[in-house]
Amino acid sequence: MHDVIVIGAGISGLRCALDLEAAGVDYLIIEKNSFVGGRCSSLRCDGFILDRGFQVLLDSYDEVFSVMTEKDLGYQRFLSGALIDTDRGLRELFDPLKSPQKLRTAVSVLFSDIASFRDKWRLWNLSKAKSLLKEFDVQSSTDNYFQATFTERFQEEFLRPFWGSVFLDYDLGIPMGHFFELMKFFSAGFGGLPVNGMQSLPDQLFSQLTKDRVRLETSVVAINGSRVELSSGEILEARKIILALPQEVVCRLMDYPQPVQSRSSACVYFAANNSPFELPALRLNARTDHEIVKLICIPTSIQPNYAPKEKVLITVNLDPQFDYANPEVRQTTHTELVELFGRQVDQWEEIEYMRIPNALPDYQLHSHLEDMDYIACGDYSSTPSINNAFASGRIAATKCLEDY
Ligand SMILES: Cc1cc2nc3c(=O)[nH]c(=O)nc-3n(C[C@H](O)[C@H](O)[C@H](O)COP(=O)(O)OP(=O)(O)OC[C@H]3O[C@@H](n4cnc5c(N)ncnc54)[C@H](O)[C@@H]3O)c2cc1C
Repeated sequence: MHDVIVIGAGISGLRCALDLEAAGVDYLIIEKNSFVGGRCSSLRCDGFILDRGFQVLLDSYDEVFSVMTEKDLGYQRFLSGALIDTDRGLRELFDPLKSPQKLRTAVSVLFSDIASFRDKWRLWNLSKAKSLLKEFDVQSSTDNYFQATFTERFQEEFLRPFWGSVFLDYDLGIPMGHFFELMKFFSAGFGGLPVNGMQSLPDQLFSQLTKDRVRLETSVVAINGSRVELSSGEILEARKIILALPQEVVCRLMDYPQPVQSRSSACVYFAANNSPFELPALRLNARTDHEIVKLICIPTSIQPNYAPKEKVLITVNLDPQFDYANPEVRQTTHTELVELFGRQVDQWEEIEYMRIPNALPDYQLHSHLEDMDYIACGDYSSTPSINNAFASGRIAATKCLEDY
């Protein structure tokens, strides 16, 4: 009998275990995969580092940087803002206050036709957290808020492609409260990447735990009182059980109705000899004649370690409703990329295609979960993000230690 069993070695489970370890609790983590990190992890492929579905780590994530440092992670930043392919050509929108060339960027933003003066003023206010929350219901959709606040052109050319890619929801049905929470972090900091990929985050946590307290390749199939049943038939027991699982797995194990929504991610990874654009920034595709390619990023523009020497890694996020495995979709994706970057795309070598169903959980925390006998943690407990997965793990450990 253990004091505590934590099921799931994603970010939330590992963060929880960190505090259990520090408190000297006899705990065990059970993880079905052969690696730690769950959805926040990376694949190594022929010298390339492929983050699962392409992710960015914000330097303003307070929960993350309270237990590790930028130096631990070898963290590097993208520029704050984005390049945008519009029907009228390439545009850029960068935050002048965070730009290395503040004056030049401020002038370029002021005269940019990507947004009206009213849009720019409202975006500025929003970024200063002068939120318009009082006028809006936090449960209403972000799309409603954008429609009531910004011009249609700015919505379609910047807000929808940018926030659609962040939330993996291009309809922007996400509750406004979630948008405001993440907006706070985006305004306060930069997006960036660790030197060894997003896998560095769980690896950092894992490195602080006693190794034989983590059982990999071990799947839980049922939970009954204090008993945890593994797929091998083995039964483990603990005084406390913490579920650090994705929401849909909790619902399955607890026999709750499955959440109805799911936000998937689809990402193709290419190797190239040259970068298709020079600025270390995310590039959004807002062309109305394109329906598949949404976001392009060059991780090697800030972390050369993501590719073998002299090679460039290009990640292309697709609208997940298109299945890239279908040859027609693949061909259209190629055509869209050629229209963005020219014939150099013919030389790109496809490394991998990753489709991640249930990449981000449903917007609504299922009411059953609140009344559960077990302690639950995971990104579904609030706005899904790496930071909130860290927070939920910390809170679960505190709850457990209070009872303990
Ligand atoms: C494609 C994609 C892009 C994202 N982009 C960003 C981003 O840019 N910025 C950001 O902040 N966040 C992003 N996120 C969200 C972030 O990665 C997640 O919120 C976070 O990793 C969730 O951690 P978790 O511990 O809650 O869940 P998980 O990572 O899902 O951990 C749950 C663990 O439980 C294990 N498990 C499942 N079933 C069983 C079982 N039966 N028995 C034992 N173990 C089991 C799983 O293998 C997993 O390791 C993204 C997520 C995805 C998928």
